[in-house]
Amino acid sequence: MLLPEPIQRLINAFSRLPGIGPKTASRLTFYLLNAPEELSLDLAEALRTLKSGTSYCQTCYNITASGRSECEVCASATRDHSLVCVVEEPLHVLAMERTDSYTGVYHVLHGALSPIEGIGPDDLRIRELIERVRSGSVKELILATNPSMEGDYTASYLSQQLRPFGIRLTRLARGLPVGGDMEYADQSTLLRALFGRQEMS
Ligand SMILES: [Zn+2]
Repeated sequence: MLLPEPIQRLINAFSRLPGIGPKTASRLTFYLLNAPEELSLDLAEALRTLKSGTSYCQTCYNITASGRSECEVCASATRDHSLVCVVEEPLHVLAMERTDSYTGVYHVLHGALSPIEGIGPDDLRIRELIERVRSGSVKELILATNPSMEGDYTASYLSQQLRPFGIRLTRLARGLPVGGDMEYADQSTLLRALFGRQEMS
């Protein structure tokens, strides 16, 4: 081994992250090695508290600060708690919040159903969503899963499961890039998709 162990160790750690190949991993490692120590210490501290400082909201399963049982959206008295937007990832909550026009609350599934990858209903926060609807406080669910094969499949599965509760079930209007990720939809596209949402058949 040509490189000292601490250097190789950090290169290996970076390489395990999505989108980072061996070259980028080496470049980042050597950058930190040559940068002021403060940068490495800040990074180490941020990583150390990433998990311990966060937890899931017990209502919508979005990420929140640890020690809180509900996120800011769920705890807000000014939001419409009978309107629930169902998304795949916490980042999609951020995308919806950026539109500045959504007044309801959320439910984060933490993924989408994928028979090919073996991801079933029990791997997602689907049971929790059904319980939430069963409790009777929800009037409309906006199924805002990605406009992808898995996202569409998840939306129709949820609409089948939730149909008996007699609530309004809508899907974001077409116009979002097909096969794309909600996270990358720009504000105006997302806004049009939200206001043009259609009843699930
Ligand atoms: Zn919440």
